[in-house]
Amino acid sequence: MESKIYYTKPSITEKEVAYATDAARNGWGERCYEYVGRFEALFAEHLGVKHAIATSSCTGALHMGLAALGIGPGDEVILADINWIASAAPITYLGASPVLVDVLPDSWCLDPARVEEAITSRTKAILAVHLYGNLCDLDRLFEIGKRHGIPVVEDSAEAIGSIYNGVRAGAMGTFGTFSFHGTKTLTTGEGGIWVTNDTTLFETVRTLSNHGRSATELRQFWPSEIGFKYKMANIAAAVGCAQMERIEELISRKRAIFEYYREQLDGLPVQMNPQDGLGRIHGYWMPTFIVDERIPFEREPLLDRFRSKNIDGRIFFWPLSETGHFESRHETSVSRTLSPRGVNLPSYHDITEEEMDRVVETVRECLG
Ligand SMILES: *Cc1c(COP(=O)(O)O)cnc(C)c1O
Repeated sequence: MESKIYYTKPSITEKEVAYATDAARNGWGERCYEYVGRFEALFAEHLGVKHAIATSSCTGALHMGLAALGIGPGDEVILADINWIASAAPITYLGASPVLVDVLPDSWCLDPARVEEAITSRTKAILAVHLYGNLCDLDRLFEIGKRHGIPVVEDSAEAIGSIYNGVRAGAMGTFGTFSFHGTKTLTTGEGGIWVTNDTTLFETVRTLSNHGRSATELRQFWPSEIGFKYKMANIAAAVGCAQMERIEELISRKRAIFEYYREQLDGLPVQMNPQDGLGRIHGYWMPTFIVDERIPFEREPLLDRFRSKNIDGRIFFWPLSETGHFESRHETSVSRTLSPRGVNLPSYHDITEEEMDRVVETVRECLG
């Protein structure tokens, strides 16, 4: 059997090991949040935002951010039908409803026209998710949000390295969130971060994230409200600090991997993630192809062939409307067409050209 080609795998060097070891040995007592503070500062600086709060997951960061906007029972949050469940689940934790709308066929992200049609008097936020690092049409989403007085927030978990008109993804919305799960471009094992430029909102989330204890509260252990506990562990943050020192390397490797696949798959009847242009630079968290609609395509035989060659095949996200957990109020035909025709390609930092060639050859056998 040929060696296994994983779809993702973190890049862990001696630096990550050294920092984690130091946190495990020394990061206790008064120093128990030292790496967390450093990680928050490094990330905020990289992104160009004023405030960052490290969390145990992106799911938790979204939960707190949406709670801080006052979203609750009966409210609605608009997001794209094609998404990982983690973007939608926190909306339901608050008793609010995810309203699923269709995506654009080229970016696979929110279609602004469909967003506008879905707005009701209960709409409390538009959740822009930059799928696979592809950027949402933020200019139009912000314009719609402004006109209707609805905040636009960014779930940028997949968009580290993506830049829109010179500003990093996650730094433009009312707030942004990221994930550092082991499959993401930058990892802390499990982890996430919540970011904003809005100092008032930051104070609200800071209090929420500390079990409702305000930074200005003088009484020990006094909760001014019921909050959350989604803090990042110091040892995880130590790994994150090392990864932040390598962030440009981690991003540029993702971009190089995408470029290699794009060149090698040229000529096949597939559409890949959008290329840079129109003020957009892509982080390419996950190189992905969608097989053209004019070609008959069954994904299972391709995945079988991947398995037979010991390659991790990963399918495009399901339309959330197909999971049966949410009301489907709007038609989402683009999402439903894209999803079964989409495949993600292995793209971990240390993947070799020979390994990518094996992936390309397998794709070509199926589609050539
Ligand atoms: C990975 C991911 C999440 C979930 O992140 P966790 O850290 O696992 O909670 C949320 N949103 C998007 C877009 C993701 O890709």
